[in-house]
Amino acid sequence: MGKATGFLETPRTENPFRSEAERLCDFQDLHAHLPEEARHEQASRCMYCGVPFCQSDYGCPLHNLIPEWNDLLFRGQEKEALMRLLETAPFPEFTGHVCPALCEKACNLADWAGKDNAVTNRDNELYLIETGFANGWIQPRVPAFRTGKRVAVVGSGPSGLAAADLLNRRGHSVTVFEKADRPGGLLMYGIPNMKLPKEIVERRVRLMEAEGIAFRLNTPADPDLLKDYDAVLLCGGARKPRSLNVPHMDAHGVFFAVDYLTAATRAVVDAAEPSVSAKDRHVVVVGGGDTGNDCVGTALRQGCASVTQLEMMPAPPVDRTPANPWPEWPRVLRTDYGQLEALSRQGADPRVYETTVQEIIPDAENTIQSIRTVRLERNAEGRFVPVPGTERTLPCGLLLIAAGFVGCEESTLEAFSLSADNRGRLLPPDLSHRFSGNLFTAGDMRTGQSLVVRALADGRAAAMEICAFLGK
Ligand SMILES: Cc1cc2nc3c(=O)[nH]c(=O)nc-3n(C[C@H](O)[C@H](O)[C@H](O)COP(=O)(O)OP(=O)(O)OC[C@H]3O[C@@H](n4cnc5c(N)ncnc54)[C@H](O)[C@@H]3O)c2cc1C
Ligand code: SF4
Repeated sequence: MGKATGFLETPRTENPFRSEAERLCDFQDLHAHLPEEARHEQASRCMYCGVPFCQSDYGCPLHNLIPEWNDLLFRGQEKEALMRLLETAPFPEFTGHVCPALCEKACNLADWAGKDNAVTNRDNELYLIETGFANGWIQPRVPAFRTGKRVAVVGSGPSGLAAADLLNRRGHSVTVFEKADRPGGLLMYGIPNMKLPKEIVERRVRLMEAEGIAFRLNTPADPDLLKDYDAVLLCGGARKPRSLNVPHMDAHGVFFAVDYLTAATRAVVDAAEPSVSAKDRHVVVVGGGDTGNDCVGTALRQGCASVTQLEMMPAPPVDRTPANPWPEWPRVLRTDYGQLEALSRQGADPRVYETTVQEIIPDAENTIQSIRTVRLERNAEGRFVPVPGTERTLPCGLLLIAAGFVGCEESTLEAFSLSADNRGRLLPPDLSHRFSGNLFTAGDMRTGQSLVVRALADGRAAAMEICAFLGK
């Protein structure tokens, strides 16, 4: 432990958000970044705990060696700290931007002295990797030998990329098949540019290509891969959206969240007009979660007339309940960047709780004009039911469905003659990553919609199983 009194002397300071007024004018990174000296001070706050909960099963799924690299960072040994981080973290630039930082919620300082005093591990990690890129410490690491084994990875989201990276380092020849026109999965088309600038994804893919990994874009996976490759790893994600059971879902102006966010990112990356835009429209987002929040932030940047977010559940508690103690993930009310932006632009939180859509109201051309909403309450059996007399009509020119995901897409299942379990997952019965023969699965496709860091960990676990299967 570098500095015994670090956490007593230095308050937790995160990378600050750019002001709402400034960031709403562009799709660039939400945050400004603290300078080197402040970063060393933040690292000095880490206590190098005897029992580091940040690394436990409650904390980082990659089991990053957090106290060790915080200590090195505090001492100004950035390169050594980065190398320690890279032992377990394949792409710190992704998690450094988008991870909800389970490690920080589990940190022994998380709830200390009545407030969030956790070490800023996510910002520290981002600083280390960006310092590494800036100083030329990150160079292609081409394997010294090749095993002669060929592995096909289907899907280039975080799980596919993490698996490809590890398999390639072990000397296998890896080809990634991606049906989209750009690699990255939800890192590219899903998570908005302001949360994860797309040049960061492209930079990593270029590096992986230089290390010998082949990417085949616009190429949906073909079952012949099973014959042509020694192992096939399906990392197709869990992108089938939950729909709404209301009339006129086919109206113009009704979109699933990821389709809308994909169009928005494509426009940013191509510097073109989006194929669907919130500009001057009243936008309603169905779903109060993180994906819904990304829709709110995107709609505001596109110049929507207003944005409202409907959530069928009641608002979570402000503080942890006794049933949700540290170091568990805190199930409490959070106000994310998009909701803060809506607050600043509209003067109110966009979220309306215990409310859902009852009807979509289109015009004669089947273009959405408004929606009817209704409040919900739980009945005696615990099911949500509409409260009579609470119906409201909201003007709505763009309805975005961010009501969650129900599993992997049928096209991949059909192509490989597979069936998902009742939660839409391709989870092998023995809970391993091997489905059958030389077919493996990882990431959201195996676990259901999750987090980038969990997809990375799962991709790496699958890669290790494939190495054992190949005997190399
Ligand atoms: C809008 C949104 C925002 C999110 N924000 C965050 C966040 O801030 N932080 C966080 O930790 N997590 C976030 N998540 C969750 C996170 O993005 C996912 O858990 C993660 O991307 C899953 O990775 P994956 O590799 O399993 O799948 P995906 O990222 O979904 O990638 C799957 C890839 O497989 C490709 N594919 C599918 N089928 C085929 C096929 N048959 N042939 C070829 N290619 C195929 C797809 O085109 C896609 O590129 C977010 C999710 C969404 C939807
Ligand atoms: S739990 Fe927090 S203070 Fe302790 S080692 Fe981990 S990051 Fe450092």
